[in-house]
Amino acid sequence: MYPKVLVDLKKVEENTKIVAQACAEKGVEIMGVTKVFCGAKEIAEAEMKGGIKYFADSRIENLVKLKDFDLPKVLLRLPMISQVDDVVQYADISLNSELKTIEALNIAAMAKKKIHRIILMIDLGDLREGILPAQFDETVQAILKMDNIMLHGIGVNLTCYGGVVPNEDNLGQLADFAKHVKDQYNHHLEIVSGGNSSSFYLLPQGRLPQGITNLRMGEILVLGRETAYGELVEGMHDDAFIFEAEIIELKEKDTVPTGEIGMDAFGNKPSFVDKGKRMRAIMAAGRQDVDPTTLIPLDERIELFGSSSDHMMWDVTGCGYKVGDIVQFKLEYGSILSLFTSEYIGKEYK
Ligand SMILES: *Cc1c(COP(=O)(O)O)cnc(C)c1O
Repeated sequence: MYPKVLVDLKKVEENTKIVAQACAEKGVEIMGVTKVFCGAKEIAEAEMKGGIKYFADSRIENLVKLKDFDLPKVLLRLPMISQVDDVVQYADISLNSELKTIEALNIAAMAKKKIHRIILMIDLGDLREGILPAQFDETVQAILKMDNIMLHGIGVNLTCYGGVVPNEDNLGQLADFAKHVKDQYNHHLEIVSGGNSSSFYLLPQGRLPQGITNLRMGEILVLGRETAYGELVEGMHDDAFIFEAEIIELKEKDTVPTGEIGMDAFGNKPSFVDKGKRMRAIMAAGRQDVDPTTLIPLDERIELFGSSSDHMMWDVTGCGYKVGDIVQFKLEYGSILSLFTSEYIGKEYK
């Protein structure tokens, strides 16, 4: 079935091994973040073989898919109060920043006679989730009083909203908070989670602060890139995920439309560069599946003209394609995410 995503599980496993080993050398365990591939079991298993110690996902639905794997499940997105029963049921650990929600989790856990573990998120500048540092002590004190909640760790999220890069300063602060919890409350934090794929670059430079014990790795495992500066990590694969689309029309046509130009399928007024007549391939995939501007053709000669919901038009002049041929693309984070979310896209594992 086309269009489809081909996943090389060996490459995912190898990527994971490299990251897990580099982290283990510094006493850091990794969570495998499965949301970009919607918790697909095959890929999750490859990451497990590669050495992740937890599965982590933003959505409970994805954690449910992974429930039979013998690794702890972590809910990354702050729980909705309306969902606390499922959170306590399917997630062993959740990331939190709201006392009201943690109280609701406490009640839900009590009803199920469980202890629910939480990681308290602290906002150290990126302005997505997390309590402000000034609220740290009052929040910790309130959590430590709850019978069915275990304060299992603290964490920070960086390079998401604000693009703030992890460094000795912000991650050093996180490690200091953990030490403070030990000194002040005699409470050991099992997890000090120093961010996502954007923290990886600190490891080879020997700059990850002492006391960080965990990283939550998504993009780096699937695309082989650290995400603070977008560098490919040596020995890692950026082609574990390949998209394949089929050519359904191949004709030499003008590059500028004929007639009065109104709006395109998405309500925008299009503009065109006149390159004369070009060989144009229509491929059977479109913006319902993926943003075609994020596709990276393996054949470097071809170039995107444009797309609508179910079609994309590529300039394939001089490439010798035929109708029915399959064209391959490498992917970015956003394209993997949307392709896996689409039910119209085949998923094939090798
Ligand atoms: C998505 C997410 C991650 C993983 O981020 P990557 O950049 O893909 O490594 C880590 N932590 C949280 C809270 C997330 O939402």
